[in-house]
Amino acid sequence: MPDVKLPMDGDIYNLRPSKIIALARNYPSHAGEMGSKVPERVVFFLKPPSSLLPPNSEIVLPKVSREVHHEVELALIIGKGGRWISREKAHEHIQGYTILLDITARDLQAEAKRRGMPWAEAKGFDTFAPIGPKIVPASKLDPGDLEIGLKVNGSVRQLGRTSQMVFSVAEIIEYVSRIMTLEEGDIIATGTPEGVGPLKEGDEVEAWIEGIGTLKEKVVGENNH
Ligand code: MG
Repeated sequence: MPDVKLPMDGDIYNLRPSKIIALARNYPSHAGEMGSKVPERVVFFLKPPSSLLPPNSEIVLPKVSREVHHEVELALIIGKGGRWISREKAHEHIQGYTILLDITARDLQAEAKRRGMPWAEAKGFDTFAPIGPKIVPASKLDPGDLEIGLKVNGSVRQLGRTSQMVFSVAEIIEYVSRIMTLEEGDIIATGTPEGVGPLKEGDEVEAWIEGIGTLKEKVVGENNH
């Protein structure tokens, strides 16, 4: 697992998640642009912890994909672990909030969808989960209605508000913890607003969420890495 440390409240927090959970179709505008319906219940998948990437690093475009997309997402870090966590108690289990880019090999994902196969390849390459720039303690941020956006080379590609999420942070924790134990340090990425699009070698990505800050990464090709 890459060594990813983020500042939190004056200290450094070492990210050692047992799993990264990521929501699909949690913004109606993004579900629409993908030709998908808004789901009636939470839909999620897992990204491997080995895909984490610290801030100010390089997203590597794999040779086997011709279309790698950016997706900016609000992420939460689990503090106290648990199973069967109710939405009313969910806030007691959140340590803090940060930004996660759910980088996606869209062509591989489209092929997997067509063939009825899992998404693990499309979502799981090394460097496909940039995270940062810091963790804001849950006590200091209400995630309910924050501006969320992403620029590539200075042009705005994604812009939305977390209030557009279909399922709230508390509902997501309730749903996921019915299936799997959430452990301290686990990361949940809560889905992306519309405007996802391709990255190319040399791009500079800046993602921001109001109250959290800006996450910056560069994009490189696998051959030049
Ligand atoms: Mg996503």
